Amino acid sequence: MRTNQPAPKGTSSCSMCNKPPIVFLSYSSKHFCEQHFIRMFDKRFRKTVRESKMLRKGDRVAVALSGGKDSCVLLHGLAEIRKSLPMELVAITIDEGIAGYRSKTLEIARTECERLGIGHVVLSAKKEAKRSMDEIVKSDPDGIPCSYCGVLRRYLLNQGAREIKANKLATGHNLDDIAQTVFMNIMRNEPMRLARFSTPIVRDPKFIPRIRPLLKTPEREVAIYAMVKGIELENIECPYARFAFRSHVRKMLNETEEKYPGTKFKIVNSFLDMEDALWAKYSKSAAALIFCKSCGEPSSNELCMFCKKIMQA
Ligand code: SF4
Ligand code: ZN
Repeated sequence: MRTNQPAPKGTSSCSMCNKPPIVFLSYSSKHFCEQHFIRMFDKRFRKTVRESKMLRKGDRVAVALSGGKDSCVLLHGLAEIRKSLPMELVAITIDEGIAGYRSKTLEIARTECERLGIGHVVLSAKKEAKRSMDEIVKSDPDGIPCSYCGVLRRYLLNQGAREIKANKLATGHNLDDIAQTVFMNIMRNEPMRLARFSTPIVRDPKFIPRIRPLLKTPEREVAIYAMVKGIELENIECPYARFAFRSHVRKMLNETEEKYPGTKFKIVNSFLDMEDALWAKYSKSAAALIFCKSCGEPSSNELCMFCKKIMQA
């Protein structure tokens, strides 16, 4: 018989009912069965969207869809919200041109869009920037691949979202990603970048405001949700990931989380609390925009990062 009474401590039942749990969340000391896990997950997703006023009726939202678990779960979450909040969704996938890595996730992205009835645009680096990531890496063997890739993707996503006339760009950054980004910027002493990462500081119609509905959802839970929902997962790692500073920070934060559960939530909540202060201190210089003399996109320098790093490297 099912009951809604919490399971007594020390037993391996869902903390909400008597079913066997599929997950234990150490930061809240709770077990969840499949049904209650999904319920908790969806509720948190909707609450994050509502509390930060991320979406409004009539929005046209571009969804950055790599085909990895985070972006696929994001797409499902937004498709669910669309049932009660009329809005349009269009997915954009950037094909960076990394041999043996992107082709499988591209296929998953296509399948998920078809399954949910969402339009899908694919932009390839080779076509848009005239060079694939593999070619860029070859031309600068001592460079850091992810710094090129980040610039490339941000640029193409923004441009793609603008071309499809989206007024928001949703990305699948989860709690772990945000905690890592906060730490990386602190460790590199780049508070200005952190300020830019927060609220859309640059008020220019050429920049499509970003929303991150998974920012309060741990990566592990995104993976469990994807599995339960039958979203195909691809475990191929990008061949350039090992060069990333992020990998080091990820390892460090995972170790800390294991010892002190809830640390990642605390980092992200601190960041959200600091957003206004960051805005107050850096908005003036962050908003001092000029336009790239080569491509005409908003930039903080004569040449934007895309033209400097990708087109002229
Ligand atoms: Fe791009 Fe780096 Fe991610 Fe690979 S690991 S897809 S190079 S950002
Ligand atoms: Zn430019």
